[in-house]
Amino acid sequence: MSDFRLIPSIDALLLRPELAGAIRQHGRDRVAIAARAAADDLRAALGQPSIAIASEEDAAAWLDRRVVETLASAIAPSLKRVINATGVVLHTNLGRAPLAAEAIARIAEIAGGYTNLEYDLPAGGRGHRHAHAERLLRALTGAESALVVNNNAAATLVVLAALAAGREVIVSRGELVEIGGGFRVPDVMAQSGAVLREVGTTNRTRLADYSAAISERTALILRVHPSNFRIDGFTGRPAPADLAELAHRFTIPLFEDLGSGWPGTDRAMPALAGEPSIRESLDAGVDLVSASGDKLLGGPQAGLVLGRRDLVDRVRRHPLMRAVRADKLTYAALEATLALWAQVPSRASIPVHRMLTMSVDEIDRRARALVAALSGARGVSCEIVDGASTAGGGSAPGSALPTRLVALAIDGRSPDEVERRLRAHDPPVVARIEHDRVVIDLRTVQPGEDADLARAIRTAV
Ligand SMILES: *Cc1c(COP(=O)(O)O)cnc(C)c1O
Repeated sequence: MSDFRLIPSIDALLLRPELAGAIRQHGRDRVAIAARAAADDLRAALGQPSIAIASEEDAAAWLDRRVVETLASAIAPSLKRVINATGVVLHTNLGRAPLAAEAIARIAEIAGGYTNLEYDLPAGGRGHRHAHAERLLRALTGAESALVVNNNAAATLVVLAALAAGREVIVSRGELVEIGGGFRVPDVMAQSGAVLREVGTTNRTRLADYSAAISERTALILRVHPSNFRIDGFTGRPAPADLAELAHRFTIPLFEDLGSGWPGTDRAMPALAGEPSIRESLDAGVDLVSASGDKLLGGPQAGLVLGRRDLVDRVRRHPLMRAVRADKLTYAALEATLALWAQVPSRASIPVHRMLTMSVDEIDRRARALVAALSGARGVSCEIVDGASTAGGGSAPGSALPTRLVALAIDGRSPDEVERRLRAHDPPVVARIEHDRVVIDLRTVQPGEDADLARAIRTAV
């Protein structure tokens, strides 16, 4: 029945004891706004068979609920923790690197009080935020000097602006790449004010191509790590050491945008065979390297500029630095992550490191435990199958880490529907569909999330 007379007035609604708590919490004005919107919704809904409103009390109770829900959802955060069951370790859409417990503790400690962010404690006066993390970055990579900015895109932009604005930067045509999220090397170059000087071809660029392009207009040679794709076949580009030798013959700096930011330890990690490291680049003679803090380093979102002191100093003094600087929470998390890298046993505490080195046996054991936890759930059938996880997020392109997947089937539900229901759970679970089945890769499910995951699957039934 659609009798608008059942809907109480806003004034009458605001007097109801059911809304007293909401008025105390959110204030009368906001409750009144929510109540008016709720009354409009009820008026629109009254004609529909799905809604059973037979009395004034029914209508008022419906509105109470609606007002309380609306006000609660208005202040609920939209950024949520998500369970990553995709097996993509650095999932750009899911926030890349989860932080180590030590980094989270440092953020909590620094965030709640004042800090010496720009205060020189021994001197008792103004200091520089650049001082933080620098020593650890130098120790880890062997760089002469280091600088932290907001992200690697910012690092590349500010390096090009500081060292090459108004002059030419030589780049191989095979490295004019798009890294994702709109980061295109030619566009960043244009924004920095540097002039792009393309050399070579898409698949092959020789040292002679670079040397033929060098002139008095040349400010920099840029090398870009193809971090999210691979060109196979008839390909080639000069090794960093050869390019550095050429650049230095003409006293031109060589800058390498490495992106993935592998610190260059643990060569034994098979997932990262062939992935260039910061240290190797610097050792090969590259003058300046930039990298992300939240890719293979496993730290917070940050951009790192590492290398020759005179060049890092020029970047540091550029006016854009103020716009791209990192905040204190970034420094806190970055320092903690770098300290974990500094010692071999503590590297296992870095989630990205742990996930990339996790053995198939360990994943298999967790998969069996998940299947056992689901054994009582009616309508759920699970099978453990071989599969592949990936490093993802602009690192180790084409890498495939052997894994064990839990393939899920739920009676009467399509894989799309199961996948959607897992996403609707709280916390949401993001899974993949492979060969028409929903598959769960426990490599990227964090310790302590296995129980939530089992609950989400049960709820999806
Ligand atoms: C990821 C990446 C970037 C962008 O880094 P952000 O930290 O996401 O800004 C730039 N260049 C390369 C080569 C990359 O891999």
